[in-house]
Amino acid sequence: MTPMAQVEEVSSKVDLLGMDREKMAAYFIEIGEKPFRATQIMKWIHQFGVSEFDEMTNLSKALREKLKRLAHVRTPKVIAEQYSDDGTIKWLLEMDNHNAVETVFIPEKNRGTLCISSQVGCALACRFCSTGQQGFNRNLENWEIIAQMWVANKALGCKPKEERRISNVVFMGMGEPLLNVMHTFPVARILMDDFAYGLSKRRVTISTAGVVPAIDKIKAEVDVSLAISLHAPNNALRDELVPINKKYPLEKLIPSLYQYVEGGHSKKHVTIEYVMLDHVNDRVEHAHELVALLGDLACKVNLIPFNPFPNTDYQRSSNNAIHRFRGILEAGGLNVTIRKTRGEDIDAACGQLAGKVSDRTKRTLHRVEFN
Ligand code: SAH
Repeated sequence: MTPMAQVEEVSSKVDLLGMDREKMAAYFIEIGEKPFRATQIMKWIHQFGVSEFDEMTNLSKALREKLKRLAHVRTPKVIAEQYSDDGTIKWLLEMDNHNAVETVFIPEKNRGTLCISSQVGCALACRFCSTGQQGFNRNLENWEIIAQMWVANKALGCKPKEERRISNVVFMGMGEPLLNVMHTFPVARILMDDFAYGLSKRRVTISTAGVVPAIDKIKAEVDVSLAISLHAPNNALRDELVPINKKYPLEKLIPSLYQYVEGGHSKKHVTIEYVMLDHVNDRVEHAHELVALLGDLACKVNLIPFNPFPNTDYQRSSNNAIHRFRGILEAGGLNVTIRKTRGEDIDAACGQLAGKVSDRTKRTLHRVEFN
């Protein structure tokens, strides 16, 4: 085969890793096969970590040959795998010649959380986030997002569901998942599909800086759990820390959260993430303002001690300030937890993910503005 023919063959193959069940069933019909093949193949790929059709032994030889010609299960190259002293694992995955993203596994006593990336870099430029300072290259596609789960699950042994180490998935890695719903929603469906990972909707969380029109679509389209990166109790401060606030200010964001929890089951709530920045958003008056802002929204507030990175303007709030802040929120009737920092020794903590981003926004030259 000439090199050119080889290239054509690779690029014209259909990828099966990133297809949700509906898409895959439609694909099998399209190629003249029975739609139930979708469930068989999904199990092989996602539950057994198999990417070669020859290993899918309950398919006929003829079907395996046909699939080899038409399709593939595309998986990224693992460039690095790092282990923290606290058990956290970070993978750096190559998505194309210029870009790589990070994925982090955080084991805890009763659960294991995988934190996945949805974009190469991020366009939102939040001031306190390392990814935000790096710029943006592109959205990740379905296969590139679900591949993070596939790689981690395989590295952790592809166990039967009850013994699987990844019990929760959070879209809290690099990127803004709600600026890439075309790819993150189908991936959420694969994560929740019983023929793939079978996670319940309470165990899949999309975290967003507040893309209001997409928040409004979540419940109808995927109904996963929702976390909001709030970080400030008023527009003036939030405009500065989370610039997308200029486009979707608090008077638009907060009503969309009420809308999200409304009519849900009794335990439905939103997680409010609030990074603790020394002398920036951690004062007593900020805590009171936050209580007033959240009113009687069904929510849990998660205070995140700031994780520093090179050239940042900020410092982590003192423990005293964090506990004082929590006390005021609790006295105001809010349910509060303080996020334990994990994986700091391998730069795997919240906001420290960097990967390899070939920036197309010239972030270092201009600040992205949302007006
Ligand atoms: N774009 C999405 C998801 C990525 S960030 C979002 O904004 O929610 C995941 C979480 O880590 C967010 O709550 C984010 O605000 C927080 N975070 C970012 N930088 C951080 C830092 N340096 N220290 C602590 N948390 C940080």
